[in-house]
Amino acid sequence: MRRRLAAGNWKMNGTAASLSEVEALLDAHVSPSVEILLCPPATLISAMAAVKGQHPLMIGGQDCHAEAKGAHTGDIAAAQLADAGATHVIVGHSERRTNHGETDETVAAKARAAHGAGLVAVICLGETLEEREGGRTLEVVGRQLDASVPDGATGQNTVIAYEPVWAIGTGLTPTNGQIGEVHEFLRSRLSARFGAEAAHVRLLYGGSVKPSNAAEIFGIPDVDGALVGGASLKAADFSPIIEALE
Ligand code: PEP
Repeated sequence: MRRRLAAGNWKMNGTAASLSEVEALLDAHVSPSVEILLCPPATLISAMAAVKGQHPLMIGGQDCHAEAKGAHTGDIAAAQLADAGATHVIVGHSERRTNHGETDETVAAKARAAHGAGLVAVICLGETLEEREGGRTLEVVGRQLDASVPDGATGQNTVIAYEPVWAIGTGLTPTNGQIGEVHEFLRSRLSARFGAEAAHVRLLYGGSVKPSNAAEIFGIPDVDGALVGGASLKAADFSPIIEALE
């Protein structure tokens, strides 16, 4: 019912030379049975769209402004991402929440802007190590889910990425039981709010996913794919993750 999704977040990495990695990825997955999304820096969206041509690879931004246009130097509107060739945008990544002080309300406003521009919002949430060790994981992700996901969310326009902050870029991953517990919790919380539509919303796991642990993580119930940082930069790493999802 839910199409599995392998999403890559290049963060602030990559130049035009990195497009050779995209070419290698496309060659390795000519007709993928899962959805593949790459979110490069905004500077590469147009060029990546040209490289992919008719291939079903999807391209996303890593952030957007909540407003449609105006005096916001350095920011990018959702419609501008769409204009450059994006169909998705990540909002609420923990690096944005931490480094740019984004609140759940900011994230919800950005997700609404994404929806308004016809983009799929990949809404990120996750607990810090302190929150997990304090036994507050479900309380924290429940609050983030309620407040970061706007009312108009559907399985078509929204993907949720559970990314424990302490697992991002650290090589640490939660146990299968911990991932499963959070995903089951998120699904039931979405069901309570959105009813039957919740069954269509993809739930990705993110945080140190790599070729060696992908298959195990993808076997956990309610994990519909992954949001991958470091291991999405090289086709040689991302490709086996995609294969593990297929
Ligand atoms: C991320 O930044 O979304 C992420 C999951 O990073 P990494 O895979 O490098 O932990």
